[in-house]
Amino acid sequence: MSRDALCFSCLYKDERPELGFNSELIYCARKEIVVRPKTKCDLYVKSTDEGREEMRNMMYGVISDHDLQEE
Ligand code: SF4
Repeated sequence: MSRDALCFSCLYKDERPELGFNSELIYCARKEIVVRPKTKCDLYVKSTDEGREEMRNMMYGVISDHDLQEE
């Protein structure tokens, strides 16, 4: 599969190796399944630094300044 496939630049690509990421299979966090890289996908969202940070915050939560000061 070409590295030009949409999944390689998609926000929902999950690169954790235990989830099956390689050149043949990708874990799609949106569909919550392992997929073959797609050249067409209605769910595609281009990955950006801001988008990845937002996804991390949704998955792992955000520690506020207030929480840090209590420790
Ligand atoms: S949303 Fe579509 S383009 Fe994005 S990783 Fe999943 S299958 Fe690939």
